[in-house]
Amino acid sequence: MKKSEQDSVAFLQDLLRIDSTNPPGDESILRDKIRQRALLLNLETEVQSVNKDRANLIVKLKGNGNKPSLIFCGHMDTVGVGRSRWTFDPFSGEISEGKMYGRGASDMKSGLAAMLEAMGRIRKNSRGHEFGDLILVATVGEEVDCLGAKHAVKTDVFDRAGAMVIAEPSNREVVITHKGALWLKITTYGKTSHASMPEYGINAVDGMSKIMALLNENFFSLDKKNKLLGRPTINIGTIRGGIQTNVVPDQCEMTVDIRTLPEMDHQQILSHLERKIDELGIRYKIDVLHDLAPLDTKPNNDFVKKAVSVNEQITGRKSSPQGINFYTDGSIICQHKAFPIVIYGPGERELAHQPNEFVEVDKYLQSIDFYVRLTEAYFQDV
Ligand SMILES: [Zn+2]
Repeated sequence: MKKSEQDSVAFLQDLLRIDSTNPPGDESILRDKIRQRALLLNLETEVQSVNKDRANLIVKLKGNGNKPSLIFCGHMDTVGVGRSRWTFDPFSGEISEGKMYGRGASDMKSGLAAMLEAMGRIRKNSRGHEFGDLILVATVGEEVDCLGAKHAVKTDVFDRAGAMVIAEPSNREVVITHKGALWLKITTYGKTSHASMPEYGINAVDGMSKIMALLNENFFSLDKKNKLLGRPTINIGTIRGGIQTNVVPDQCEMTVDIRTLPEMDHQQILSHLERKIDELGIRYKIDVLHDLAPLDTKPNNDFVKKAVSVNEQITGRKSSPQGINFYTDGSIICQHKAFPIVIYGPGERELAHQPNEFVEVDKYLQSIDFYVRLTEAYFQDV
């Protein structure tokens, strides 16, 4: 392994040794580590404050400003280690048989590290390059509510952007589409009475069971299908109602997670649901907890074609644009910005949020090549 590759591997190990679990959500030590490395690679950095406790990190390789910038994006937080036992310490960055283990190895410290390493390499090889800015946006809070991305779209960081890559685990495929998420809290209201005389009360749990039946009837076109994403899904996650067994409950709450396709409109789903519940004559309220749009970059987009072709050169195998089920910071960004977004990272999707999460060291190093070559291809003729 070359010295530069050894450094890249050691850098990822350093990141995996830092706990940036969310919740509770504190990326500050990780952010400082990435910033130190960026400065060492002669890149410019800016700490972009999101609120009093949290901050995104912006790393820049400045071009001459003549061409639109290329954005790299990745989140710094990870989910918790979970209750299952790990064979390797989740904060060790231990390497065994070519695999580096740790929480975030796939999702997505490997992608984040590879993007920074690619920027360092481009910086080293370029003498006052002729292209636009290359910008890495390292976000906070993606695993909970995309807090960092929501803030970043309100700043000027994307103002001159022409395209974006998000380094989420993609099994080294170019991903152009993913599902959206609509999380609802539905509350039904009734009237209490003694359970021996239910006719004097209105049962809020009964009302909710009718709404559950409605949801399960696939009434909002769950028969829709997308070539890359399959079908939309719905999950009733929690339900809570009533005070005690011998009282007719006057309130019931349920949370629902709907994963949508690009051909579905969240506002339409909501108004359709409201209309159907109104017809049942139930007293209710709906709160939208999460409203994240699907990502829908077109396969014939120029940037997508470049990404696919670079991927074929790097991996030596045929590649075509893919879809994934889970959402990313791309949900937020595509709602505000019109540039094409693709997802590409060295991690394996199936390992995200799992015990014994790892990334293959070879794939991590190859993904650095991918980001370097994609940058070159992008700036060649934009
Ligand atoms: Zn992720």
